[in-house]
Amino acid sequence: MARVLIIGAGGVGRVATHKCAQYPEIFSEIMLASRTVSKCEKIASEIERPIRTAQVDADYPEQVQALIKDFKPDIVINVALPYQNMAIMEACLQEGVHYVDTAAYEPKDEKSFSYDWQLKAYKEPYRRQGLVGLLGCGFDPGVTNVYVAYAVKHYFDEIHELEIVDVNAGDHGLPFATNFNPEVNIREITLPARHWEGGEFKVTPPLSEKRDFECPEGLGTYPVYLMYHEELETLVRNFPTIKKATFWMKFSDEYLQTLRTLQKIGMTSIEPVDLGPVKISPLDFLRKILPDPAELGPRTKGKTCIGNIMTGVKDGKKRKIFIYNICDHQEAYKETGAQAVSYTAGVPPVLGAALVLDGAWKKPGVYTPEEFDPDPFMERIGEYGLPWKLVELDPEA
Ligand code: NDP
Repeated sequence: MARVLIIGAGGVGRVATHKCAQYPEIFSEIMLASRTVSKCEKIASEIERPIRTAQVDADYPEQVQALIKDFKPDIVINVALPYQNMAIMEACLQEGVHYVDTAAYEPKDEKSFSYDWQLKAYKEPYRRQGLVGLLGCGFDPGVTNVYVAYAVKHYFDEIHELEIVDVNAGDHGLPFATNFNPEVNIREITLPARHWEGGEFKVTPPLSEKRDFECPEGLGTYPVYLMYHEELETLVRNFPTIKKATFWMKFSDEYLQTLRTLQKIGMTSIEPVDLGPVKISPLDFLRKILPDPAELGPRTKGKTCIGNIMTGVKDGKKRKIFIYNICDHQEAYKETGAQAVSYTAGVPPVLGAALVLDGAWKKPGVYTPEEFDPDPFMERIGEYGLPWKLVELDPEA
């Protein structure tokens, strides 16, 4: 029985709140807090159990601390934006509360993201206070990290190659809309691609490498593009036998054409423009006029498929496996009022929090998900709504 404070009432926060509410024996009291309290109230009104709501600007640790002092949570699930990670971690440290998030810290004024800020500042202080900081526990990053740890534990003596593939084969019928926060999403995909090879990260121009990927279970074949994604940062560090690691994401031609046009005319810049009474960056403005991903739920049909193809050796023989999840947009919507991209990101931090609370993942310090025992997570993630399958592939293909 524990009290959980969820921060952020977007698509992911909606799913996390619904999921926590489904496990009253673990999360006996729930508070949902965000910048715009009306969004918290709307989510709370859809759930039968009482959910406390509050307004907080999580850019300010003292505001989060005040909220923690009032509600006295055992754990905080941060599903606001990556810009708030450091402030919320600081508040949790000051108040002695465990912390979970789903994406690496990103300074608002820099187009880069890394776990290093959070690890360097908080690993030791959290350890000394007996607190757990579980970083990047969404789907990707998150479940993809656990898939690697599980494969290394049970399927390989040594892992050599990792390909993470993220396909959203769903359709919302709009010409251009991002499936999660547009600003964070566009910042991420307009960065140069980086993949791990030969002991270093190799850099290639954004979205310049493309291949076709055939999804399992007849979901279809889609173009996927090489990108940098934060789980690569810690996975190659924690599993140094990995010689090559890549991350691929599906984009439609129409999406990319629109994105390139926006880039060409400067609409993806994060440099503030002086408009007289206000200063606003083009990307911030774009975020305000694009469809709100939290509203895409009712119109998104189809499925997502995210998984890891991993190659290595077992008992002296080459082995290749694929572990994946398929999630249905409409099923996710029926259960939580959100589409599958929010669902796949919002369910894992709830299980992560449950494992920290029940002791299975209660290792003081700050860690990414692959640094914990993958078994309890893999045993329960299906029941939480994200079942997985593992298939053996031909290692020579
Ligand atoms: P949304 O933009 O839909 O929601 C973000 C929420 O955070 C909004 O309710 C917003 O409030 C709130 N917020 C923003 N700034 C503050 C602040 N300073 N203080 C308090 N609340 C704030 O994003 P998503 O729900 O799509 O994504 C949430 C997080 O999940 C992001 O960090 C994203 O990177 C991560 N994510 C992770 C994935 C994974 O698989 N690992 C996949 C998808 C997302 P307001 O409504 O007022 O703007």
